[in-house]
Amino acid sequence: MASLQLVPIFCGQQAGLVAPLGARLAALLGLEVVVHEATFDAEVAFDVDRGQYNTRVLLARLLQHADPKAPRLLGLTAVDLFIPVLTFVFGEAELGGRAAIVSTFRLENELYGLPPDPALCFERLVKESVHELGHLFGLVHCQRSSCVMASSNYVEGIDLKAASYCDRCLGQVRRQLGGR
Ligand SMILES: [Zn+2]
Ligand SMILES: [Zn+2]
Repeated sequence: MASLQLVPIFCGQQAGLVAPLGARLAALLGLEVVVHEATFDAEVAFDVDRGQYNTRVLLARLLQHADPKAPRLLGLTAVDLFIPVLTFVFGEAELGGRAAIVSTFRLENELYGLPPDPALCFERLVKESVHELGHLFGLVHCQRSSCVMASSNYVEGIDLKAASYCDRCLGQVRRQLGGR
């Protein structure tokens, strides 16, 4: 069975989401999910001017410190992420690569002045995780708005899509997983 290492990085109060996320990803994708604590200091990714964490740095560290036998890695964090050309990102992945990361920071209702909804936040996290893993499987953004690989620039967009791949995207994921 293909496997995934789930790596908590600065999860803070969201640490309780690690196990349920691992269980959902295992069920949705048929992967063996192993939780592996980060062995590096993620503070190196902090950008003082922006007050956010650079995902490029975090992905590089994930790869450097990962078990070389782990085929795929997903970092999970509660801190705000950015890539230099964008104000923020929900997550990022190397297309067709090994490492991805997702953050709960912009998935929480409280950030938008709405009442807390932990169940909704968790569903958003599942979708963004399945989305970033799709990039690891080589998928680019999908034009079908209900597909989890549809691109979401706003949290409302995440709520509109499903937690699953459309038939075409799923076909590619199956080919990738079947090959290991
Ligand atoms: Zn994407
Ligand atoms: Zn699709």
